[in-house]
Amino acid sequence: MHVMSRYCSQCGKSLKACICQWIHSLASNVELIILQHPSEAKRPMGTARILTLSLPSSHYFEGENFSDHDELNQLLNEPDVRHFVLYPGEGSIEAQPEMVSGEGKVRVILLDGTWKKAFKMWQLSSNLHSLPLLRLPIELKGNYRIRKAPSDNALSTVEAGYYILSIMQPENDFSPLIDAFERMIQFQIDQMPAGVFEKNYRNE
Ligand SMILES: [Zn+2]
Repeated sequence: MHVMSRYCSQCGKSLKACICQWIHSLASNVELIILQHPSEAKRPMGTARILTLSLPSSHYFEGENFSDHDELNQLLNEPDVRHFVLYPGEGSIEAQPEMVSGEGKVRVILLDGTWKKAFKMWQLSSNLHSLPLLRLPIELKGNYRIRKAPSDNALSTVEAGYYILSIMQPENDFSPLIDAFERMIQFQIDQMPAGVFEKNYRNE
């Protein structure tokens, strides 16, 4: 079998596991900047790709230390744009729809990696340190049944993106992001031998 030998040019997944059929192009006034840790880029269950495929206004960069990243710094230096970092660090404030009202564009930066990697990215990327930090309401729970989460509140990147966009723009429907995510998980579960999922991956 050479199942993994051919990949979809759009989503980068194997043709068999292609997620493009579930992707819907969504308009969003709030732009996402997704900073992906290199170790995350190769994961078969990486969910950031759902965001970049669904949101044509989004930006995507890979790396760990973004301090001297030209393209990112160019975005950060654009006039009349307010940037936030979705990172639950000290002084973070809960995301609100009011943050989008008023003049100028809003961009939210997501750090895509495990908690440890995201912390490292945050620490190293000094150009992010002056930006206000956002967090999601604490009662949110992840739907991500495959990846082991260090805590109940750990969300996949696509879920974090879905929540932040939905909270800031309640008039828009971003549920196609979650639909694509759930279909991707279901596909993975269907590939597992019977019982493996229940035994190893159940998140209670
Ligand atoms: Zn595809």
